Amino acid sequence: MLSYEQARQIVIEKVASHNRPRATQGVPVWDALGRVLAQELRADRQYPPFDRSTRDGYAVQSAGARAGATLRCAGEIKAGDTVTQPLAAGTCVQIMTGAAAPAGADAVVMIEHTQRDGDSVRFERDAAAGQNIVRRGSEATAGQTLLASGTRLGYVELGLAAQVGAIDLACVRKPRVAILSTGDEVVLADQTPGPFQIRNSNSVSLSAQVRLAGGEPVVLGNAADTMEDLRAKILLGLREDALVLSGGVSMGKYDLVETVLKELGAEFFFDAVAIRPGKPAVFGKCGESFVFGLPGNPVSTMVTFELFAVPAIDLLAGAPPRPLALLEATLSEAMTEKPGLTHFLPARVDWPQGKAEVRPLRWQGSGDIAALAQANCFLVVPSDRDTLARGEAVAVMMRRDLI
Ligand code: AMP
Ligand code: MG
Repeated sequence: MLSYEQARQIVIEKVASHNRPRATQGVPVWDALGRVLAQELRADRQYPPFDRSTRDGYAVQSAGARAGATLRCAGEIKAGDTVTQPLAAGTCVQIMTGAAAPAGADAVVMIEHTQRDGDSVRFERDAAAGQNIVRRGSEATAGQTLLASGTRLGYVELGLAAQVGAIDLACVRKPRVAILSTGDEVVLADQTPGPFQIRNSNSVSLSAQVRLAGGEPVVLGNAADTMEDLRAKILLGLREDALVLSGGVSMGKYDLVETVLKELGAEFFFDAVAIRPGKPAVFGKCGESFVFGLPGNPVSTMVTFELFAVPAIDLLAGAPPRPLALLEATLSEAMTEKPGLTHFLPARVDWPQGKAEVRPLRWQGSGDIAALAQANCFLVVPSDRDTLARGEAVAVMMRRDLI
């Protein structure tokens, strides 16, 4: 059986090799968080646009501002002031952070290292050439590419776009991801379930996961465990870039998702992965749409979406697949798990002395969303280990929405 790393690799290869032109749209910079750039972002002018002081202090010629020297203060430059006068020899100018240093000044001495008496300024330390001035064009030259097409826009990239005046950005259209839950026992979350029915939580959590991954969820509701209803609703889902199904992929008599997909001509790239929860996860392609059949137990659905669907949505959005948010932590207690499968267990990681420590949480298995709601990560127990000792270094996969 495939390891989860192998299965992820298959997803990445299959989706990456599916080269379809991607539609683009203009997005206001205010609304573009998480979107993927479909253009280059270039500097519109030199950055900084002038020799910029990074301190409040005095602009000087460093050679004349040695420790103990006194210079006459010839004026003041505030941030935003137009500066035309060069620095006269033997003088200094009071300058504020963000103001343009005058021609001839090669350093700014922090005000804390000076003493002012009327018009004269005494320097307590040697000024060093270049200090506290960022030269015009040293961060970027006009026309320089600052962000490549395909870059995902985080708050830093959006700040950069604003800096260069790019208030409307060409972005890749979000991939549309159909979400279809299945099961005769499932009712919509706004309905009252009968005594042996349950509410559809997967459509809600999957929709949130799709959004978090940068996709546009298209919620199709729930299909009954019949060939007819599944076929009709799967056909609707296949109009989108990807279709994510929950439930109906296990060995039960009414687990019909694979049968229906096969009948519709789907090609399967895997239909089991050596993980728990989530072993019966299915990945394939049907027509032009990628299909994920995720097991219906809510925590299985969540884990398998994170492992396999997120990299596909990244690629469909025109961005490189994000790595899993894995980090290393010290295990707080010994534990035993079934070998041969990689386990993803609800856990809490903390940094008590600045070092990551992880504690597995009690849970009732993959239906137990309440336990996962107390977790901030999944403890990853490797498939080749059945016991782990207290104090061992282990991997944890952070919940993407909490970091
Ligand atoms: P299945 O994968 O169809 O065998 O379902 C596994 C378990 O997940 C069963 O206990 C289902 O009742 C439950 N389940 C299936 N779909 C959903 C859903 N949309 N929301 C919450 N639980 C579900
Ligand atoms: Mg079912």
